[in-house]
Amino acid sequence: MNQVDYLRISLIDRCNFRCQYCMPEGAELDYILRQQLLTNEELLTLIQAVFIPVGFTRFRLTGGEPLLRPGVVDLVQAIASLPQSQDLSMTTNGFLLAGMAQELYSAGLRRINISLDSLEPEIFDQIIGNRGRARWQKVWDGIQAAYQVGFDPLKLNVVVIPGVNDHEVMDLAALTIERQWHVRFIEFMPIGNAQMFSDQGWVPSAELRQRIRARWGLTESQVRGSGPADVFQIPGAKGTLGFISQMSECFCDRCNRMRLSADGWLRPCLLNESNQIDLKTALRAGTDPAELRSQVIQLLALKPEINFKQRESGTTGAYSRTMSQIGG
Ligand code: SAM
Ligand code: SF4
Repeated sequence: MNQVDYLRISLIDRCNFRCQYCMPEGAELDYILRQQLLTNEELLTLIQAVFIPVGFTRFRLTGGEPLLRPGVVDLVQAIASLPQSQDLSMTTNGFLLAGMAQELYSAGLRRINISLDSLEPEIFDQIIGNRGRARWQKVWDGIQAAYQVGFDPLKLNVVVIPGVNDHEVMDLAALTIERQWHVRFIEFMPIGNAQMFSDQGWVPSAELRQRIRARWGLTESQVRGSGPADVFQIPGAKGTLGFISQMSECFCDRCNRMRLSADGWLRPCLLNESNQIDLKTALRAGTDPAELRSQVIQLLALKPEINFKQRESGTTGAYSRTMSQIGG
């Protein structure tokens, strides 16, 4: 059985973007009330007294937009300084990154994923919900700042949507040739905007690889990450290309992660909403950490059964929470 040692932690369900595929403008989202968010102290208690003792050693901070979380730098510092925390990373939209990259790095963050779905400011603006074209430049500046500060690996996440940004795949892939940036193409999933999914569809990773291979050639990278991405490289390129193919392939058997929502629900599988545990309520009720550990251990044992596998893969509207709420 796969070792489950990786926890994705959503710090906040709110966001300063409205990506059409994630939380489209007009979607009715029930935001978590501030008092329902896990506090920094509660989160650290759960990490130290529950997750680390049961074997989690790798943590990713996500959201919503994690850089909107008050006290995020302090939290990074606290988690990074735990001796058992072997790996701490963050997924961000990069909008606030230019001003925060140095503090985050100094606090101990070394790995960062930045979402960048387009190199064209106008298209980028449409994707993120018409928030002003200057946003592309701010995200780009954030990426440059993170690169200069020394984040390594620096990954760029691209959700490929037919008719929206699929014509940019080659330009995005080309970013890896001269720079040590790692571009990861993610298959669009029917979470967040079922309408867009059924209107636009999705592009299988194999098709993207074929296009890139025809232009430059493509070799399987020697560096295989521990996550779901299949990693390749344009021959001679400094960076790599990752493909996350949750629509065209089932990688549940190598799933190594669980997710903690900003209001403290532990979710064993991205796509299956059953068997979640409400750790925050238990913690606030004074439940002994030993009891919480035993609940998490039971969930770990159940996980292979709960994993979504091929169940109704590709159905639309099947999930009641969006990626921004789950911490995709
Ligand atoms: N706000 C941060 C960001 O955008 O990087 C972190 C949270 S966001 C929910 C995490 C990742 O989920 C992003 O890379 C985003 O592109 C991806 N995502 C959101 N909705 C998706 C969908 N329907 N299909 C595939 N990926 C999605
Ligand atoms: Fe916000 Fe990230 Fe979702 Fe875009 S993908 S709306 S940046 S949480």
